[in-house]
Amino acid sequence: MNGINSVNGNADNDGYLPLPQGFATAAIHAAHEPEKWEHMSVVPPIVMSTTFKQHSPAVPKIYEYGRSGNPSRNTLEECLAAVEGAKYAMCFASGLGATSTLFGLFNSGDHIICGDDLYGGISRLFRIVGKPLGLEITFVNATNLEEVEKDVKPNTKMIWIETPTNPTLKVIDIAAVSKIAKKHKILLAVDNTFLTPYFQRPLELGADLSVYSLTKYMNGHSDIVMGAIVVNDEALHNKIRFLQNAMGIIPSPFDCAQVNRSLKTLALRMQQHSKNAIAVAKFLEGHPNVIKVLHPGLPSHPQHKLAKKQTAGHSGMISIYIKGGLEESRKFLSSLQVFTLAESLGGYESLAELPSIMTHASVPEEQRNELGISDNLIRLSVGIEDVEDLIQDLKQALETIK
Ligand SMILES: *Cc1c(COP(=O)(O)O)cnc(C)c1O
Repeated sequence: MNGINSVNGNADNDGYLPLPQGFATAAIHAAHEPEKWEHMSVVPPIVMSTTFKQHSPAVPKIYEYGRSGNPSRNTLEECLAAVEGAKYAMCFASGLGATSTLFGLFNSGDHIICGDDLYGGISRLFRIVGKPLGLEITFVNATNLEEVEKDVKPNTKMIWIETPTNPTLKVIDIAAVSKIAKKHKILLAVDNTFLTPYFQRPLELGADLSVYSLTKYMNGHSDIVMGAIVVNDEALHNKIRFLQNAMGIIPSPFDCAQVNRSLKTLALRMQQHSKNAIAVAKFLEGHPNVIKVLHPGLPSHPQHKLAKKQTAGHSGMISIYIKGGLEESRKFLSSLQVFTLAESLGGYESLAELPSIMTHASVPEEQRNELGISDNLIRLSVGIEDVEDLIQDLKQALETIK
């Protein structure tokens, strides 16, 4: 299996980029040749062994020690690379673990430009762990390309963006940011957790690194914490592969097998998340207790056109401003019955949360205010339940706030 080709996909995709062709086949078959295993198992085995017998000293067959490589992990990594149409993928203990590993690429005094509307834990990692290591961090509204370029300095080594952003779902032009990065010879990393390679392919748009919290849509069953980095450049791959072993932030073989299994249904799940979310978003847009709905697939979204230009669709992520403040948000969230009040996203089950005091509580208040992460901003992760039940649930909960 050589991965997939997004160019010749189904052209009629409602004005979005074509859906990647062969995605489901790659997800199901890549790195799964039964001939790879002595017993010809159709499903790759879970290999828990931490060490592997060598032919003679320092002559291993393939594997030596579980931190540096493992059949279950490597199978997942090959499959991840294939579904992104990329050359290499590497897995880590978590999304944050993947990002922490990148710190090993830099030296004290290096500068990183970072989008300002981010997963709270990434912002915390850069600010509270990166800075004491001597990394200089500038947060920027990356929808403003001039601002991004203005922040480039001689010591700038990486631009980090998340698109759509979290939680306000702004869309950042990956190809345009990549032009700036290439001009100044800076790495561009895109956190692609919200869309997965089914809907967005950062490397094809010019990014150097496509980074994931596999915990979310990729695993999609809310039962594994894991991260990944996908790249095409061999030298970059070698450096990160070295760091994966040297820093040791690796996932367990069992967890790798679980995520690998989940990839088999990723295409189906993303189609359903996408359908449900647009139906929910349209319902919410018409509700009197909702002030504003943020969803890149709605024509009312300020970057709807850009979203269509660089993605093949949108996931189940929606943010809404409801009428009122903290009290109304509490009331709304505690009235939900099908949606579960919980952090995280991307699982088959629908979740709702209040970023200002939950996922984004670690973002400084001033920055939260600037970004519009107010106490009436609710983030929804629309699952794959029957959409009528989801809409009915939101309706009854919205009615409780009057
Ligand atoms: C959850 C998340 C992360 C962090 O991943 P973990 O697996 O929880 O460490 C990073 N980026 C985004 C967009 C996320 O949603």
